[in-house]
Amino acid sequence: MATPRTTRPRLRPARLGVVAVLVVALLSPVRPVARVAPVGAVSAAPDRLADPPPGSPAERVNGRQVLAVSLDGFNVQALARLGRARTPVLHRLLRQGAATRNARTQVELTVTLPNHTSMVTGRRIDADAGGHGVDWNGHRPDATVQRAAGRPTASVFSVVHDATGRTALFATEEKLTLLERSWTHDIDRVVVRQDDDRAVVRAARRDLLRRDRSFTFVHLGLLDETGHEHGWLSRPYLRAVTRMDRLLGSLLRGAGSDRRLADLVVVLTADHGGAAGEHHHDDPLRRANHRVPFVLWGRGVRRGDLYRMNPAYADPGRGRPGFGGTQPVRNGDLANVATDLLGLGPVPGSRWNKHQRLRWR
Ligand SMILES: [Zn+2]
Repeated sequence: MATPRTTRPRLRPARLGVVAVLVVALLSPVRPVARVAPVGAVSAAPDRLADPPPGSPAERVNGRQVLAVSLDGFNVQALARLGRARTPVLHRLLRQGAATRNARTQVELTVTLPNHTSMVTGRRIDADAGGHGVDWNGHRPDATVQRAAGRPTASVFSVVHDATGRTALFATEEKLTLLERSWTHDIDRVVVRQDDDRAVVRAARRDLLRRDRSFTFVHLGLLDETGHEHGWLSRPYLRAVTRMDRLLGSLLRGAGSDRRLADLVVVLTADHGGAAGEHHHDDPLRRANHRVPFVLWGRGVRRGDLYRMNPAYADPGRGRPGFGGTQPVRNGDLANVATDLLGLGPVPGSRWNKHQRLRWR
């Protein structure tokens, strides 16, 4: 389970800087040279979304670096309990960014894999309603999103990669290799370290400094793990939030000042929360499970409340909106916030924020 899984940047004939990338990669002492091919990786290829039809304008990413961070099982109430002194980084992101503590998960399920698949595809879950169909939450080594959906399914990875951007995925859960298998050719680097948030943060940090990624997705599982073991908002959980805050601090050190990170924009959310004292988070009807934060932070992002900036969205208050009516900000908005930040059109087939209306300036 703990086997490191690493891919190096793949080479595309048309890409500039290929030689430099190759040399750096080969010289790097920290990166295994051999790529471990995931089970089922090859079978995902035929399911990929076809290239755009001839004649459609070729899109190119702008110079931004989008860093998406998902804090698995993050109940934002922990921040009020801990205060600014013990969670300075998360407080800073919320204070300086375009942010809300009252976004929502997916409607159907409040578990990890379905919600992460929504974050990267911008789709709802139910495949019969145009969703991605990933309605399970375990590690299925042969599964792909395309097979679950029963149709070609694009993601932020495929849109960015088709627009000549480089992408990476860092995660602390083996089951998230589902994304790697589903977009084999679109994710240039994958690092999975089971339950090792520190190693994942370190790897992501190094990668952010050394590569000019357009889109990086970082999944950190410590809070979920601690919640399952000790209960959400328990003392160990709150300690874990403090630890997570420090990890985020090391991940983001120099953002905005270091010239290598000058164009970094962070998009932070969660797949689900968890109710105080509970050891599970499966009930989508419970607010503690379906309430998550959604934060944009970085150059070009205005400070303020996301709902105040976005009359097209509605703060759900204590409610749990369904699919009809004005929507709350959702974790599934992430995909098209990222494409928008990078100057690209929406992910084909997406539902959340498909008109890229969510504003942050
Ligand atoms: Zn969990």
